[in-house]
Amino acid sequence: MPFKLDVYDRSVYREPAPIDRDSPFQSMMERFDVAAEILELNPGFYEYLCRPARVHMTSIPVEMDTGRVKVFEGYRVIHNNVLGPSKGGVRYAPDVTLNEVKALAAWMTWKCSLVNLPFGGAKGGIICDPDELSRDELERLTRRYTADLFDVFGPDKDIPAPDMNTNEQIMAWILDTYSMHARRTENAVVTGKPVGLGGSKGRRQATGRGVMTVTLAAMDRLGLSPGECTVAVQGFGNVGSTAADLLSQQGCTVVAVSDVTGGYYNENGLNIQEVKAYAEQNGGTLSGYENATHITNEELLTLDVDVLVPAAKEDQIDKTIAENMEARIVAEGANGPTRPEADQVLQEKEVLVIPDILANAGGVTVSYFEWVQDRQGYFWTEDRVNQRLDRMMQKAFDKVYKTAEKHDVSLRIGAYVMGVRRVAEALRMRGIYA
Ligand code: NAD
Repeated sequence: MPFKLDVYDRSVYREPAPIDRDSPFQSMMERFDVAAEILELNPGFYEYLCRPARVHMTSIPVEMDTGRVKVFEGYRVIHNNVLGPSKGGVRYAPDVTLNEVKALAAWMTWKCSLVNLPFGGAKGGIICDPDELSRDELERLTRRYTADLFDVFGPDKDIPAPDMNTNEQIMAWILDTYSMHARRTENAVVTGKPVGLGGSKGRRQATGRGVMTVTLAAMDRLGLSPGECTVAVQGFGNVGSTAADLLSQQGCTVVAVSDVTGGYYNENGLNIQEVKAYAEQNGGTLSGYENATHITNEELLTLDVDVLVPAAKEDQIDKTIAENMEARIVAEGANGPTRPEADQVLQEKEVLVIPDILANAGGVTVSYFEWVQDRQGYFWTEDRVNQRLDRMMQKAFDKVYKTAEKHDVSLRIGAYVMGVRRVAEALRMRGIYA
């Protein structure tokens, strides 16, 4: 039976009912639905693919430096592992929700599929404020979370990586804790770890580098050259700072960047090396940076620039922001930065939106390279990593562009069509185990 949403009972799988329009999972589903219709997805596959395969929730007791025990809530959601072991970052933040982790896990499934990696999708999160934890508390929290999920993680099962507020050190603690329980060193159990522990050269910059590659590809399609383009970047963490740096190295003028403390604008262009050095010396934030005018994050999003790179968090571009936006290209470094209702506005304004599952796929692509290197025990040069990454990102961009043209849809829907199709085909070939 061909798939048609209007004849299919959505209430079976939708949650929560009535539909929560603000939920990131819902935001993912709205795009998935369109792709499913284009693909005429088998209804049973649809029902399976819009649910996470497994949801793990854990209460993590941590002895704080004061001696008091505090309990944190942690999640690991495996959305799908039809194509291979599940892959996805772990996020530490006070406002993490299970719904958000479920959405992020599904995005990982489509992303890995889209760039042709042999991985499924997963995501983890712990509700905590890392700024309020000492290094020792952070280590105990990470180790206990890993021990609790020992049966879930594994190089052939589920492989964590960094995400918001997690970094190479946290991956090193996950590796060590897992290895202690496994009674052998398993460096392929995490990616995004330090190079000295089997990490890959180029992994730290990979997501930002991928953003740069697809942005240049989009400029090329619009007949723009980097030297004539201005850029604004929201979020100045791993993804945003690297994207800003690499785009400025390509000749773009980065006129604004931002972080949780707000936006920093200089119409003549910011010196990104200087801004990065400032943030490093200033506890990671841009607060107090002087060679720029302070603007709000909203002002940053609606600046008169050629390229906007949202690289902070979900749901930053709503309908109103989209209506007031001036950028011609949006390269989504962050996951889910654009609300579904903003998609249509941007499409009507003919803004070329490079969707998250394509634009930020560089991180998981080099994570895949890292996993391959760990398993071979043979490590690549940074040039080799970067060349392969650039090639895969360019190829993915071209394929998404072609798919979007073929179905006369946005790049976002084109990317979902590609991502969902490969997973559905694998599911069909494997069959449903009774
Ligand atoms: P990060 O923690 O290194 O940096 C996040 C940055 O965003 C910080 O500068 C923070 O101050 C800023 N920020 C947070 N809230 C903000 C707000 N409301 N307005 C403006 N700035 C704000 O995180 P990251 O690893 O760079 O991840 C950023 C985004 O990219 C997330 O959506 C993440 O899921 C996505 N992503 C990351 C990777 C990766 O390899 N790190 C890969 C794919 C996708």
